[in-house]
Amino acid sequence: MRIEESVKLDFKDVLIRPKRSTLSSRKEVDLRRQLVCKWSGFVFDGVPVIAANMDGVGTMAMAQRFAGMGDGLSAALHKHYPLEDLLSFYEEQGNEHVWYSIGVSEKDEEKLEAFLESKLQKDGRGIDKICIDVANGYSEPFVEFVKKIRGRLPDVTIMAGNVVTGEMAEQLILNGADVVKVGIGPGSVCTTRRMTGVGYPQLSAIIECADAAHGLKGLVCADGGCTVPGDLAKAFGAGADFVMLGGMLAGHDQSEFDVFEEDDGRQYVSFYGMSSAVAMEKHTGGVAEYRASEGKSVKIPYRGDVADTVRGILGGLRSACTYVGAISLKELSKRTTFIRVSQQLNVVFGDD
Ligand code: 5GP
Repeated sequence: MRIEESVKLDFKDVLIRPKRSTLSSRKEVDLRRQLVCKWSGFVFDGVPVIAANMDGVGTMAMAQRFAGMGDGLSAALHKHYPLEDLLSFYEEQGNEHVWYSIGVSEKDEEKLEAFLESKLQKDGRGIDKICIDVANGYSEPFVEFVKKIRGRLPDVTIMAGNVVTGEMAEQLILNGADVVKVGIGPGSVCTTRRMTGVGYPQLSAIIECADAAHGLKGLVCADGGCTVPGDLAKAFGAGADFVMLGGMLAGHDQSEFDVFEEDDGRQYVSFYGMSSAVAMEKHTGGVAEYRASEGKSVKIPYRGDVADTVRGILGGLRSACTYVGAISLKELSKRTTFIRVSQQLNVVFGDD
């Protein structure tokens, strides 16, 4: 056994120090980024905020709404859409605002292969960005899987994770990932820290993974733990190239869930972790005997069109940039100095 004594920080442990600035209005701030992907050569051009590949968030309706908004946000579609629906979606909407998601199961791989055999893919209008997503990105078979997909799809942008440490971010990049997804345990409906004791404070995970990834010309996507727009500013300030959001984008018209009314007269929408008992029941017919659920199910207030929430988030980000004198999102991390505001770590376990 070993104890690591160095301080590891979460979003709530820091604030961003304001800096002298020549900017006169937040309107001047450019939130779009042009991010070059190491292996695929693709240049991402847009606001690098991605809807998480979760039921109620990574939906086709979400991707379609983002396309209509024109800021270049994208959605990682959840893994459970049938092939026919995916093909029609790509045919009708194009691939600009969407990441195709897979896990490492045989079923996921078969569905991907069938998509790759489609005429749409052969015409170059199919999958161009893929999110390979597992709860624990530390396993050797996962790294091998990423390598295999890179070999199979040399021109496709690959995001892979999740991991939380620099050496593993490097390993994924060296094996074919363009973007490493960072975060174990910070998610709003995640109970991994509570169920397993495993995790890593998210701000430090981002700082360490970004440092390692950028050294290899790789990118990182901070995934999980953002609850307010200021958390996105901190994630980008820490070096994240992309930020992925679950809970902050849940509960909208685009969730593809029914809105229901409770006795309090208010309207709600369901939201649950993709490893929760609810999700496993829905998609795989129950929680396998050998495993425990690592997600919870909640009801959240219905919030209407996601476009209004996104405007609030982007407004907060623009404002953060003006406070530190960053003319663009790209400048934010260079202009960020974090002030530690907590002396004692108070880890969020996902149930608090
Ligand atoms: P949020 O933005 O809601 O804080 O976090 C979203 C992220 O939580 C997702 O992108 C995913 O990485 C993670 N996540 C989603 N469902 C679960 C779950 O059931 N268990 C765990 N451990 N993480 C989850």
